[in-house]
Amino acid sequence: MAMGTAITMAIAGLLLPGAPVIASESRSPAQRTFFLTLDAVPYTSVAALHSSGGAPELFGELGRPVPLISTFPSTTTVALGAALGPLGLEVSPGYEARFFDWEKGSVRGGGVISFFRIEFPWRSFFEWSKKGVARSAFASLRPVGASERRVLNAFGAFLASEQSDFFAYVETTDTAAHLRGPAALDNMFRLLGRAIREARSAGERFRVVVFSDHGIAGGEPLRNVLTGVLETLERVGFKRAKHLRNANDVVLIPYGLVSSFEAYTEVDTAPRLAQVLVSVEGVGLCAYRTAEELWVVSGRGLAAIGRRGDEWSYRPQAGDPLGYRAVVDGLRLGRAESAQGDWFSDLDWFEATWKEFYPDALHRIAGGFELVDNPASVLCSLEPGYMYGPKKTERAARLVGGKLRWTHGALFWEASAGFLLTDVPSTNSGRGIRLASALRPLLSGSELEVGEAPARDARLKRSGRK
Ligand SMILES: [Zn+2]
Repeated sequence: MAMGTAITMAIAGLLLPGAPVIASESRSPAQRTFFLTLDAVPYTSVAALHSSGGAPELFGELGRPVPLISTFPSTTTVALGAALGPLGLEVSPGYEARFFDWEKGSVRGGGVISFFRIEFPWRSFFEWSKKGVARSAFASLRPVGASERRVLNAFGAFLASEQSDFFAYVETTDTAAHLRGPAALDNMFRLLGRAIREARSAGERFRVVVFSDHGIAGGEPLRNVLTGVLETLERVGFKRAKHLRNANDVVLIPYGLVSSFEAYTEVDTAPRLAQVLVSVEGVGLCAYRTAEELWVVSGRGLAAIGRRGDEWSYRPQAGDPLGYRAVVDGLRLGRAESAQGDWFSDLDWFEATWKEFYPDALHRIAGGFELVDNPASVLCSLEPGYMYGPKKTERAARLVGGKLRWTHGALFWEASAGFLLTDVPSTNSGRGIRLASALRPLLSGSELEVGEAPARDARLKRSGRK
């Protein structure tokens, strides 16, 4: 690839004697860490690259990738909110730039002006990122090349900085994965691996943490469920509305092309709305809250999800909506004699479910209602092969990349499993890790008590909404 070669040469140039490289002899290796967030790169494609020996420098320097189980919805704002929350970041107002504001009783955001006016704290968290609507539109024409360039630029910015924990965010990998498939990013990983090795050969000492916010799933053209959702709602007497005035009003905010969606309605209407939505072709399951419980409904049944301190329970009322029957049987076998009922610890649930079709579902479904200021009434996850979004977005995507074949948002594994690749020594044995727990132990100052993060305090306050 001509463009790739040019980038390698540019990075090599940066590291030649006489080039503006910051001397690092005075720093101990543990003091500097390059955190690189790559949007929407799935565990599966990075693991395949690792197995194929396709990026020897990268895996030689950083070891093997591990699955990083994202949030539900497995989308950027929710996932990065969860990932960075333990570092002190505040939650965002909504799941996407366009969201339902419960206080105002109406839909807000989504425009170019509101992008800058309504604050999403994670956007201003990173030391290095390229943002803005115009930049994104331009990069979406050449997302793979843009991703290769940005990853190397971000790494160069880290080398030139004095920051101990340097956070970079590359957004164009999301566009590349959606439009070209995740394997199109293999060369980016090769270039990154070479750049890391070259920098170390030149005497730089640092650690690296590369991770993604969620996975991506697909391969075949995706079918849009929006029309089916709208027709079904109308047929059973719901009214799509902009405000919630009557019991049958439902607010939907299609945004982007993803494999999850949110619906807003009165609290008493949510159970019936979830039952109706889950009957639409392509909708895998829906979740909602009542005063006491969380509920999940799919074509396979209905179950209550309970939380009691650090414990969760999964109590099917009919069928087995999450397909967790065998998991629960296994947990019962492994628990202490004295334990009662189907309550198991958060850690036990995670260990038992991270490889399941719906990984870590109890914690993640609960998080779907807690990780934004304005949670949905009903949250739905699509089945593989489907997407949800406005027709005009679908047409725009088709102009750039043909029929959309890849997306994320859903609760199932491929959409949910991002990756973590790091040379920071840890006790990890190749098992999956929850995204929300992953970063804090990897900070250079991770000996700090939880809740303290002095180096980042000022910026966190700036990026936090008041
Ligand atoms: Zn993302």
